Amino acid sequence: MVAVVYPGTFDPITNGHADIIARAARLFDRVILGVAANPGKQPVFGLEERVAMVRAVTEGMPKVEIRPFHTLLMDFVREQGAQAVLRGLRAVSDFEYEFQLASMNRRLAPEIETIFLTPAEQYAYISSSLVREIAALGGDVSEFVHPVVQRALRAIYR
Ligand code: ADP
Repeated sequence: MVAVVYPGTFDPITNGHADIIARAARLFDRVILGVAANPGKQPVFGLEERVAMVRAVTEGMPKVEIRPFHTLLMDFVREQGAQAVLRGLRAVSDFEYEFQLASMNRRLAPEIETIFLTPAEQYAYISSSLVREIAALGGDVSEFVHPVVQRALRAIYR
């Protein structure tokens, strides 16, 4: 059994995240979506709401498990019995931060690997922060997020 943790703030989950999750489900036996409480990032959506949206988007994917976490990522990964951490890479601009994170995480937990997947190109420019910005200004985000997320964005920015 090979298990991977895909951690993120998912504020909110986008079609880009969903694309990465679908790819991971083809490679791993268990894909654990770690929804980070991440108070330092001051998420727009509360943890429970982010978890609920992730759950709705991944409905019907038997290999996918959803778990909120408040601790150090590598402690969470060990607790879950996973062998690897998954991150998405959209562009070269993601690389520097992700490389730093992967190096630090290797230092903290040498037995855990970080694996990167790239999304289909039509998702490469989507980010949660841009989606929030567009929604806040009344723009159409239907192309970028699941209808459940679209409704949640409409409710929060009404
Ligand atoms: P974090 O706050 O940990 O960066 P995010 O929810 O913003 O959490 O992102 C989680 C992971 O998903 C990160 O590795 C990020 O690069 C990746 N990601 C975000 N948007 C996309 C996308 N459109 N396509 C592929 N990967 C993405």
